[in-house]
Amino acid sequence: RLNPAYTGRFAPSPTGPLHFGSLVAAVISWLDARAQGGTWRVRMEDLDPPREEPGAADRILRTLEVHGLHWDGPVLYQSTRLDAYADAMQCLRDRGWAYDCGCTRREMAALAQPGLEGPVYPGTCRDGLPAGKSPRALRVRTHDDPIRFCDRTQGEVCQQLASQIGDFVIRRADGLTAYQLAVVVDDAFQDITHVVRGMDLLASTPRQIHLQRLLGYPTPIYLHHPVVLDHGGAKLSKQTHAPAVDDATPGENLGRALDFLGLGGDGVRVGVEDMLSEALARWPPSTPAFSLLPLREKGRG
Ligand code: GLU
Repeated sequence: RLNPAYTGRFAPSPTGPLHFGSLVAAVISWLDARAQGGTWRVRMEDLDPPREEPGAADRILRTLEVHGLHWDGPVLYQSTRLDAYADAMQCLRDRGWAYDCGCTRREMAALAQPGLEGPVYPGTCRDGLPAGKSPRALRVRTHDDPIRFCDRTQGEVCQQLASQIGDFVIRRADGLTAYQLAVVVDDAFQDITHVVRGMDLLASTPRQIHLQRLLGYPTPIYLHHPVVLDHGGAKLSKQTHAPAVDDATPGENLGRALDFLGLGGDGVRVGVEDMLSEALARWPPSTPAFSLLPLREKGRG
């Protein structure tokens, strides 16, 4: 019944309840999947216990349900996937693509060149740990062959990882699996064909494609959507104290989310399921920020 050519996902981190920006992200991802008759999965990215809030994962799931955003199959919790991440790290290590790094944050800051997303790692431990250093993080080697992909809102995106990012961390010094590795292992494990997520993650995608290629995984089709900004122009987030979505007013919340997307109805309050099916009929939005490029299956691979 479901379109086998489309499997999408929503992958919240349970660092707090959903706020309006993350509700919008969930709605976009759900609409894109359902408009194509696809499967829509939820993956809980609970990989960083110190940053997590007790009860947040359950609260997020409840908020999705209350807003009519029903998912397919069981929720995948990343905290149950540590063995799979360790296997992927071992595979990269065995092939010489990952290496131990003994640099501290302070050393990095002193040596590194400024890059796209903070300092570019200078490669200090690339050829073996210098005497006196002990292993802290695990890094993956990068190269400068351009990594290109066609984003469904941005068009062609291209990055040269070695000079713009540098060899990056796949296991942190505190022993936790880095987001970049976990997301790649699980997108492959869950057979995700279409990744729909906020523009703030656009600069991570070339790193993820690099890991997919090293691990022999397919590359999904990507759509990075505009994110909701507060009045000061900052992305709504827990750090900027965005309030939790109020589960007592789902129709109102969903109405605002659909208005943000230019998919709002006539203002007559109906149930969330009806609001979503009306929005499905209007998907994709035609506002300039959301003009989607035609889906090309060639984008895969
Ligand atoms: N867990 C990430 C976040 O909450 C999203 C990861 C992704 O969609 O790739 O921002």
